[in-house]
Amino acid sequence: MPASSTSSSAAARVDVAVVGAGVAGLAAALGCAQQGLKVALIGPAARAHAPSAAAPFDVRIYAIAPGATALLAQLGAWNKIDAARVCRVERMRVFGDAGEALTFDAYAAAVERLATIVEEGELLRVLAAACDYQPALRRESAPLAALRADADAARIELDDGRTIEARVVIGADGAQSAVRAAIGANADVHDYRQQGVVANFACEHPHQDTAFQWFTDEGVLALLPLPGERVSMVWSAPDALSAQLMQLAPEALAARVTQRSGHALGALASIGAAHAFPLRRIRVDRLVAPRVALLGDAAHVVHPLAGQGLNLGLLDVSEWLRVLAAREPFRDPGDLVLLRRYERARAEPLALMRWTTDGLSRLFAADDPWVRRLRNTGLAAVERIAPLKRALIRHALG
Ligand SMILES: Cc1cc2nc3c(=O)[nH]c(=O)nc-3n(C[C@H](O)[C@H](O)[C@H](O)COP(=O)(O)OP(=O)(O)OC[C@H]3O[C@@H](n4cnc5c(N)ncnc54)[C@H](O)[C@@H]3O)c2cc1C
Repeated sequence: MPASSTSSSAAARVDVAVVGAGVAGLAAALGCAQQGLKVALIGPAARAHAPSAAAPFDVRIYAIAPGATALLAQLGAWNKIDAARVCRVERMRVFGDAGEALTFDAYAAAVERLATIVEEGELLRVLAAACDYQPALRRESAPLAALRADADAARIELDDGRTIEARVVIGADGAQSAVRAAIGANADVHDYRQQGVVANFACEHPHQDTAFQWFTDEGVLALLPLPGERVSMVWSAPDALSAQLMQLAPEALAARVTQRSGHALGALASIGAAHAFPLRRIRVDRLVAPRVALLGDAAHVVHPLAGQGLNLGLLDVSEWLRVLAAREPFRDPGDLVLLRRYERARAEPLALMRWTTDGLSRLFAADDPWVRRLRNTGLAAVERIAPLKRALIRHALG
């Protein structure tokens, strides 16, 4: 990435420059500002919700695990989410392709809920509003154009030619991260040759706060509960099938999903257009470099079958804020020792999630009859072993 050419006297100076104003970037910028640091949040504002009860539900819907919810609560943003637009997940039912079912239940696990379903637009709205109230947080809507960082300082050039000097740069600029490219981190990209087809439906029977997931020979189909008798679909479908699904008229797609879900919620009816997202895994060889840290999708992209991508990103933010708050008084926020502490703390949870989501997606994509038998026997076994089920739930809660 080209180095900045503007003279250093013109540069604005901040403690932390966060690049990327998605959910992870907003949360990171807010948390740093709340610790009394001077923050620049760089990048165009993402499409947030206008606060309206009547607005149709976003097509980008996340199952947020309690670990990530705790961060949003600590930031003072969670209680600002419109309660009428979220749905708790009390139960999760997972079906194999031979009909075996695995049920996770909040009561049985003695937890308040398994997850909360929330719209991306709503998360963006509350986090952006909270950022607006931080006097030491300045928003720069121009994207990052260039970054040069060394042991002494990091220098950012914006697309409009202005420059910013920061003691630490947080790269929260998503899967195609320019910050990651600028530090020369290697990103190993695996294309699953699947698309995540998402759409919302009204359902005939109440979902009773249950999330459903079917591992099928046509990919992984998930129906997440929305407020009222509505559900949000994520169908991780092979490329050819997803192209077919995207060509269906809305009611034909609803009929196809009704059939594929075995009428579990009765007949489904379309309440919005479908969208498709290419599914990839991105493994990044390092999360930090002198004066730079990566988090969120800039640091890792996983298959959405476990609904954990944003959860991981928010737990990155949580860890970074913990390391920052616990720093010795003589360390500045970009001290390499702090960056390494952050990287070490995230290594194991990230590897475990990558291993789990990648393994499950390969296991259920395999056509071999022995693999098919093994995976269904595995599902049935987990259902019968209560401590194993509890351990899986604890892990998924973050
Ligand atoms: C089908 C599907 C379903 C999913 N379901 C779930 C789920 O249920 N639960 C879950 O936890 N996760 C889920 N995920 C994953 C989740 O979508 C991502 O992990 C999450 O959106 C990443 O957030 P982020 O803030 O890190 O990145 P992004 O949302 O990509 O934000 C990056 C931001 O950086 C900005 N940017 C880019 N380049 C620059 C630049 N040069 N300068 C400045 N700004 C820049 C962009 O404009 C953007 O605003 C799902 C993903 C898919 C595809």
